[in-house]
Amino acid sequence: MDNSPPNDSDTYKTLLESTKAIPWRIDWASKQFTYIGPQIEPLLGWAPASWQSVEDWVNRIHEDDRERVFHFCVQQSLQGLDHEADYRALTATGDFVWIRDVVHVIRTPSGEPEALVGFMFDISERKKTEEQLLIMQKKLEELSYKDGLTGVANRRMFDSVLEREWLEARQHQQPLSLIMIDIDYFKQFNDFYGHLRGDEVLKQVANTLAHAGVRGKDFFARFGGEEFALILPETNEVSASKIAERCRNLVFKDQIPHAKSEVSQILTISVGAGSITPSQHDELKTFVESVDALMYEAKRNGRNRIVVKGA
Ligand code: GH3
Ligand code: MG
Ligand code: MG
Repeated sequence: MDNSPPNDSDTYKTLLESTKAIPWRIDWASKQFTYIGPQIEPLLGWAPASWQSVEDWVNRIHEDDRERVFHFCVQQSLQGLDHEADYRALTATGDFVWIRDVVHVIRTPSGEPEALVGFMFDISERKKTEEQLLIMQKKLEELSYKDGLTGVANRRMFDSVLEREWLEARQHQQPLSLIMIDIDYFKQFNDFYGHLRGDEVLKQVANTLAHAGVRGKDFFARFGGEEFALILPETNEVSASKIAERCRNLVFKDQIPHAKSEVSQILTISVGAGSITPSQHDELKTFVESVDALMYEAKRNGRNRIVVKGA
């Protein structure tokens, strides 16, 4: 085999017209199509004879893509630059197909464009996959950082935000407060009202408490089960104590009946709140455990109350 290209035009024509890519040629001076592959018809439904001038091409570009694509192609062509553009092409039935047009600029010896030749590729499958991938990525992000039941941030997000705020507080020597919240007698609630009603109430409590922190950096999450947590950067124990009390009041104000609670007729929470300005010797895990211990102290002291301690 000498590997030289075929030298009869029939072979070229057969090759061009048997590929999936659709070849075309536009004369620059007249802006007329001098050729378009017959494959265009099965793809878009427009007969080759209906591709007369550049106008026909432009008019069959989706109006949201038209300006961008046309402008880009003209600019590139004037500079003699090969280029490619993705756009939605109108079909004869009024639908759109994603096309990638790959364009080569043929220039006169003086450098002016003489003709444009190119291939159109049907990239609708690829676009579909790309779009699905984007949707799935978004879903995945939400799934991994959002609690599935309540829609608030989940434990994973909580851990990463707390880690970040801990480092910030240590670096700038600012107080960091943490509030841990646990619903009182929630097992009894589920047993009496059913798990589904329990789920509903968890959503409601999450929604109520999500607005307890008022500052931009305040961060609320579901810690797990019927426990929630509030991270309060740049907040000392005096302010934290007020917010803890606000949490307790907010939930109480929702007046969710809890016939089986031993402390009230309505649903209540126990809250622990701690503050720390972390030094190099402090450990985040120890701090979280200490606030958790405060919450359990609130339980032991009779529930439906807050216990606050500054470190
Ligand atoms: P305490 O006042 O000491 O906190 O008592 P409690 O019953 O709230 O605590 P316990 O830890 O014994 O029980 C927690 C209950 O929370 C048990 C569990 O069924 C319920 N729970 C945890 N996650 C969910 C959930 O996603 N949905 C529902 N419906 N219930 C949940
Ligand atoms: Mg609990
Ligand atoms: Mg509980």
